[in-house]
This record gives sequence, structure tokens and C-alpha cells, in this order.
Amino acid sequence: MEQNQDSKFEAAFLPITSIGSGMGVLVLPDVFCYTNQIVNLAVVGTKDDFVLVDTGMPKSADEITEMITEHFDGEARPSAIVLTHGHFDHVGSLVELLEKWRVPVYAHEMELPYLTGKKDYPPGDPGVDSGLVAKMSPMFPNHGINVGEQVERLPQDGSIPHMPGWKWIHTPGHTPGHISLFREHDRALIAGDAFVTVKQESLYKVLTQTQEISGPPRYYTTDWNAAFESVKTLEALKPEFAVTGHGIPMNGEELRENLSYLVANFNEIAKPKNSRYTH
Ligand SMILES: [Zn+2]
Ligand SMILES: [Zn+2]
Repeated sequence: MEQNQDSKFEAAFLPITSIGSGMGVLVLPDVFCYTNQIVNLAVVGTKDDFVLVDTGMPKSADEITEMITEHFDGEARPSAIVLTHGHFDHVGSLVELLEKWRVPVYAHEMELPYLTGKKDYPPGDPGVDSGLVAKMSPMFPNHGINVGEQVERLPQDGSIPHMPGWKWIHTPGHTPGHISLFREHDRALIAGDAFVTVKQESLYKVLTQTQEISGPPRYYTTDWNAAFESVKTLEALKPEFAVTGHGIPMNGEELRENLSYLVANFNEIAKPKNSRYTH
């Protein structure tokens, strides 16, 4: 690692912990969803060959490695890391984890500029919602990180290394290179922030993890037309299980009903009335 990005994240440790924080949910025998403060990450696979999807908040590398040890009942390291997108709460511990594990990192090619120090995300937009998390969002780090050569673009054919049976789907809107992951045979979906199951703008709802289908976190989403198309794409897959970037996993009829409801009422539920990024 030529440059330690950690100092950039010094101010990023938010004094927020949701009630679900530190909790894991075994969604399927090989899909484990873990809540790190306010964000979820997923462990997919077996002890011998698994992938870590997203890397949580800054300064959580020890917590994440302990979680993996506990989950597999013994020390284990992933074969690869896959990123749904590069926001600070999804790549927070990436640099630290890569110091422990020399493993490949995969992301969509349109997300690479934000992971290789070439581009920054636009700052969080506090005007999108009266919720406290939205109001705090300009304080969140928006600068891209730099993991240099260690990040590679995902294979063009939609496959995901070390995740047999899974495909990545480009679901832009929240960020340009946002992806979701889907496994056809059991209709398992890892949606990232394309939609979430908690109203992420509200501090109360984040803290209590009140389950409520929601569009992508508003304060960061820059392209609402693309975000809507992405939600429609995911709804059409009729997922049976969904792990989202924020909130408790949802499944079955509840998931499908909530997703169709979100599609039918996207403007009212998801899209902010005032956004500097509404277009
Ligand atoms: Zn995000
Ligand atoms: Zn997020």
C-alpha cells in the first residue's frame, strides 16, 4: 500500500450505532448478513472459499475479522472482496483489511475512478429530507479512496469470481458504477444501496432499524431516473431473499410486495422533493 488512506477517515467514525449493530443474520446457509454500525456487509460462500461483499465503516477491520472467525468457527480469509459501490460506509475498512489480506477486489468499471483516487463523489445533500442522518450527510466523507492496482473491474460476462451461480447487475443511480448481486437458483439478491429496508435518512429509524422499504439513501443519490430504472430491474427479478446495504434483510412475500409498492410509488417514497441532484 503506497499510501495509507486511513487518516482521511479520522473524522468519519460516526457516533451512530444501530440496535442491530454487531448482529448477524444467516439469510441462507451460505449467505450471512452482518450489521456494522449503520451498514451491512455480506459473507457469501464457505470457509474454504468465500467472498466478502462490502467492507463496512472506517476502523472496523478488527470487528470484521472477528465476525468472520466467529461465523466460520475459526480463522478464515476471503478469496476476494466485491464492492457494491465505493461510498465511505461500504469501503470504510477496505484499506485496513487489504493490509491483513492480499486478496483481489472487484467493482464495476464505472466505480473504479472513485476507488483509485481519480474522482470524488458529490457531497451529501442535506436538503433531501428533514431526517438527522440526511442533515449530517455533508459531514460524511465524499472523497474517493485509493486502493490502486488492487481493485479490478468485474468480468464483462456478468460472472463474479469465487461466487459460482451469482451474477452482478449494473444498478446505477445511487452511484454510476453501483452493482447488485443475484443468484438465480434461489433468487437471492444482494442489493447494495439500490434500495434499502430502512429509511436511512432518519436517525431514529436507523437506530431502531425500523423495517421500511425505501429507495436508495437520498442524500447521496445523484441520478434519480437511473435509480428508478435500477429498482424496476431488481423488482422484475422477483427476489426471494434480499440483503440490502442498510436495514434488516427481507424475504418472501413481504419482499416482493414491498418492492412492487416501491416501484409503483417511487416518486412519493424514494425521490426527494428537493434535491440538488434531482433531474
Ligand atoms: Zn451508498
Ligand atoms: Zn450505504
